[in-house]
Amino acid sequence: MARLPLPGPELIDLPAPDLPDELDRLLDHLWANGHAAYVVGGAIRDQLLGRESADWDVATDALPDRLLELFPNGAYENRFGTVLTDGIEVTTFRRDHRYRDHRRPDEVTFTDSLEEDLSRRDFTINAIAWGRAGGAGGAPGAAGPAPAHWVDPTDGMADVRARRIRAVGDPGARFEEDALRLVRAARIAAQLGFTIERRTREQMAAHATDVRFLALERIGRELDRLIRARPPSVGFRVLADTGLLEPLFPELAGQRGVPQDKVPGHDLWDHCLATLDAAAGIAPDDETLILAALLHDTGKPETFADGRFLGHDEAGARIASAFLARFAYPGRLTARVARLIQWHMFRYEPAWSDAAVRRFMRRVGVDLVDDLLRLRAADNVGSGWLPDAGGLDELRARIEAQRASGAPLSLRELAIDGHDLQQELGREPGPWIGPLLDRLLESVIADPARNTRETLLVDARDWAGGSGRAGSMADDEAVIGS
Ligand code: ATP
Ligand code: MG
Repeated sequence: MARLPLPGPELIDLPAPDLPDELDRLLDHLWANGHAAYVVGGAIRDQLLGRESADWDVATDALPDRLLELFPNGAYENRFGTVLTDGIEVTTFRRDHRYRDHRRPDEVTFTDSLEEDLSRRDFTINAIAWGRAGGAGGAPGAAGPAPAHWVDPTDGMADVRARRIRAVGDPGARFEEDALRLVRAARIAAQLGFTIERRTREQMAAHATDVRFLALERIGRELDRLIRARPPSVGFRVLADTGLLEPLFPELAGQRGVPQDKVPGHDLWDHCLATLDAAAGIAPDDETLILAALLHDTGKPETFADGRFLGHDEAGARIASAFLARFAYPGRLTARVARLIQWHMFRYEPAWSDAAVRRFMRRVGVDLVDDLLRLRAADNVGSGWLPDAGGLDELRARIEAQRASGAPLSLRELAIDGHDLQQELGREPGPWIGPLLDRLLESVIADPARNTRETLLVDARDWAGGSGRAGSMADDEAVIGS
C-alpha cells in the first residue's frame, strides 16, 4: 500500500486515506443522513504508516438506536452500543467516566463532540480522525457540510512522524484510569517498532503493578498481539524494563537473572527472547511454535540445581499449560505447545535405526514432529549455535524418508482394528483393546513388514493370552528423549 506523505502542520493538504468500498459506503450513508462520521483509531494510524489496516473503526454522533435504524444488518457488539456492520465497528462519540479499579469504565456518556471522543483515547497516534462533520448533506445545491478533513487535536501526526508513542494528556492519569493502556503501549511499540516517549514510559513504570486489576481475557488479547509483532521480543523487553512483566507474566519474569552458559553475557531471559525471535523468523504464522518458543524454558528456574536444569522439560510443559489456560487459549493449542516443550530436549544420534526414527515420530506426534524440529532450530539459534546444530538436518531428512516410505505410524494405518481383535479373539469390547493395539503398532513401527492381518492376529492371540514375548523393540530405546 502506498504510504501517505506525512504533512507539516497544514493537515488539510493530506490526501484522503485509502478506504475499502464498504467503508466508503458506510460513511456516505451516515453523512447523507446528516451525521458526523470519522474514521479513527488504529487503522488510520496504520494508513499513515503505509501499513495494511485490517479492522476499521468509525466514530459518529449518531446514537446506537439510530445506527441500528440506518444499518438494519448491524448488531450491537458490546454493552456500550458499538454497532458492527459489514465488519466495521461504529461507535457513538463518547466520554468515558467512572473508572473503577483501574479497569475499563462501567459506564460511558455519549457526546456530540469528536474532540471529546478523541481526548479519551489512549495514545496520540490513535487519536487522529478523518471524516466529515454533521449537517444537512445530500440535497443538491444546499450548502452541505464542510468537506472531509483530518482532525488531530493532540498532534498525533508529529508522533507518527517521530515513530513515538505518547499518551493523550497526562500519562499518569490515563494509566490510572485503565491499566490496559500500559500493556497496549508495549504491544503497539512492538507492533510498529516505535519508541515510547519518556514521560509516558516513566508513568508506565510508576503504574506497573496496576495491571493486577485487569481481566485476564483483556491481557490475553494483548499477549496474542504481542507475539505477532516482528520481532516479538521488543514488546516483552519493554514489559520487562518497565516492571510490567512480573505482575503480568511471572513465569516469564522468573527467567530473568537465571544463569545460562550459552551466549556469553546472556541470562535465561535473553535466551528465551532470542529463541522467540528465531521461531518467529522460521515460521512467522505458526502460533503453536512461537508460544512454545516463548515458554520452552519456563521450567528452568524451579529446576535449577548445581548448574543443571534436570526435568525442566516436564516442568516447563506443566507451567506452559497453566499459563496458556489462564489466558484461555484453546485446549488443543495448549496441549500441542505443552507437548513440544515436553519433548524439546530430545537428542538425536546418527546411530538411531530407522525404527528409532519412526518411534520418535510416533511419540512426539507425526503432526507435531516438524514443529519440534523448528523449535529445536530456534532454540539452537537462541543458544548462539547454527540452526541445524545437533544433526537436525540429518534427522529432518530421515523423517522425510520415513514419511515418503509410507511406513505405518498410527493406529489408523494398522492392518487391523479393535473390531478385528474382538472377532478374532471372541472377546467382548473392553479396556484390553487399546493397549493391545498400541503394542501391535509398536511392533509394526519396529518392522513395517509385520503390518499384515495374518501376522498381527497371530501376535494378538499370543499376547492376549498373557504369555508373549516383550516385543522386539529394546534396541535403541535409550536414545529417545534422553
Ligand atoms: P490494532 O491495530 O491492533 O487493532 P488499535 O489501536 O486499533 O490496534 P483497538 O483495540 O482496535 O486497537 O482500538 C481501537 C481504538 O480505540 C484505538 O486506536 C484507540 O483510539 C481506542 N482505544 C482502544 N483501547 C483503548 C483504551 N484501553 N483506552 C483508550 N483508548 C482505547
Ligand atoms: Mg483496531
